[in-house]
Amino acid sequence: MPDIIQLLPDNIANQIAAGEVIQRPASAVKELMENAVDAGADEIKLIVNDAGKALIQVIDNGRGMSETDARMAFERHATSKIKSIDDLFTIKTMGFRGEALASIAAVGQVELKSKRDEDETGVFIEIENSQVIKQEPIAVPTGTSIAMKNLFFNVPARRNFLKSNAAELRHIVDEFIRVAMSFPEIFFSFSSNGQQVFHLEKGSLKQRIVQILGNSYAAKLVPVQEQTDYMNIYGFVGKPETAKKTRGDQYFFVNNRFIKSAYLNHAVMNAFNEMIAKDSFPMYALFIDLDPSQVDINVHPTKQEIKFEDEKIVYAFVQSAIKHALAQFSITPTLDFDLDASIQSLDAVSKPFTDEKKSTASSSSLYNTFTKKHQSHFIESKSDLKHWKDFYEKPGQQGNSFKPQDETSEFQQLHPTTSYKPQTENLIQLHNSFIVVQTDKGYYLVNQQNAHERILYERFALAVEGKPIATQQSLFPATIELAAADAVLLKELLPDMNHLGYLLEPFGNNTFVIQGTPADVSQGSEKTAIEKMLEQFKHFSSDLKYSKREKLLRSLALQQSIKSGTSLTDKEMIALIEDLFNCDTPNSTANGKPTYLEFKKEELDKMFGR
Ligand code: ADP
Ligand code: MG
Repeated sequence: MPDIIQLLPDNIANQIAAGEVIQRPASAVKELMENAVDAGADEIKLIVNDAGKALIQVIDNGRGMSETDARMAFERHATSKIKSIDDLFTIKTMGFRGEALASIAAVGQVELKSKRDEDETGVFIEIENSQVIKQEPIAVPTGTSIAMKNLFFNVPARRNFLKSNAAELRHIVDEFIRVAMSFPEIFFSFSSNGQQVFHLEKGSLKQRIVQILGNSYAAKLVPVQEQTDYMNIYGFVGKPETAKKTRGDQYFFVNNRFIKSAYLNHAVMNAFNEMIAKDSFPMYALFIDLDPSQVDINVHPTKQEIKFEDEKIVYAFVQSAIKHALAQFSITPTLDFDLDASIQSLDAVSKPFTDEKKSTASSSSLYNTFTKKHQSHFIESKSDLKHWKDFYEKPGQQGNSFKPQDETSEFQQLHPTTSYKPQTENLIQLHNSFIVVQTDKGYYLVNQQNAHERILYERFALAVEGKPIATQQSLFPATIELAAADAVLLKELLPDMNHLGYLLEPFGNNTFVIQGTPADVSQGSEKTAIEKMLEQFKHFSSDLKYSKREKLLRSLALQQSIKSGTSLTDKEMIALIEDLFNCDTPNSTANGKPTYLEFKKEELDKMFGR
């Protein structure tokens, strides 16, 4: 028998490894932009065509590369950013693993142009399948331009796996924003298919936030700024009135790197406690700087999760910094810090953090700073920390409760539609949530919210199939301003929304004019309705099983259904019951929750021994 083990050829090994770093166009955007930042550029331009599937190009005016470095850069584990393992613990740059360019060269056709200031001519290199296929001198300005064409041209299986242009573009916008937000001192521009999406002049962080998230935040940002010897936090939170129904505008950066942290998010939400409605989300863009050795940087560069050496302290720090900021700007009507009234009236609590106090704080150990009772930085009960998990898991679970479509049929098998005719006389509402409907063989206990969700779902499904829902023109059209990523999403949904009775017109700058809404959405609540719909949509936008349209229908049905706790008139109850039993599938919602339970008189009799 011959030996059978072979070494994989380089280009295949590279393709496999690339899968980890470059999952979609947005991953390449992130890597290329971070490299440009690391190269010290103060002007970075991003150009994409076809949502990055055809072209992703990043042009910077950074330090450029020598001819040899330009070739080396595309080798795996080629980096100028670390030399020894110790460097890993002090890393200040965005990249360090030397994997990005090698991965990009493995899955796309790459053209690099680069020139250093000290060199006469620049270098042009063309790469395909990890091989340099052309190299020549070129006259270019100082800096680097890297273009990646036809992502996954050589890995069709992965190319097919990419999502719609709208979805991929949204990921790109997200990545662009994350980098642009953390470097306001750098000029950024972004164009997609020749159209300018962003043009961000250099400026302050505040200006950058407003440039990105929209003018509606202009006078509504509260600065956050605390320094200790352990860590610093700075940035802005939106005043409570700017809180939105969608989670979009929330950004955390640790050492200038965007991170996702449900834990830190909870710290912020906690600080806003009681100041905003339960289902709304405050805007924040917060930057935490701490010694790199206090953060686990050994996480994969494409991962956005982070591990802190002592996460309780970080939590406490974030929460108190925000409470302090809100208090300092008199956002809190009463200083309700869950502290005794006597403590609240103390200077330390009600007065701003003075320089003097700051120095005392930074000279004491951080933990003391946060546990001393009479400090404005005092963190209330420890139990808050214990429960952060419940808090953040709720929205997620809501999303998860949308089970696959088959769930409906499974439910139907268990509860075949009964043929007993519901009687619409003498309906009884219980707990403002349930309706008792008598049949000739017993009664149904209907859950009003689930029932309405089913009715709306079928109505919306009919609407998008060509029985459009009547639109009521708005007398005073409201405008709605969204985060860039949400605007991309909404644009994509416009045609279907139109069938569903929403007349929305893009108005530039991520703004839409609401020209009309379905007749049953009350005037004045259109904006909230749309924001909530987007939020719902995002909850299951990662679910591949459903089409965009299906997700939209479900989002709208869920969001517009009359909620439990709403008292209904007789007329409303009758309409609801009639509509429900006229549905094709009256006995469950689209996502498999029962709409009613059946109680048979026969069995009731038995139970009572009759
Ligand atoms: P890493 O960023 O982790 O070092 P990359 O594969 O992203 O790895 O880049 C490899 C090297 O190529 C970098 O360390 C840097 O020296 C060089 N490089 C990449 N992009 C640029 C750029 N835009 N300008 C200058 N040098 C660059
Ligand atoms: Mg890099």
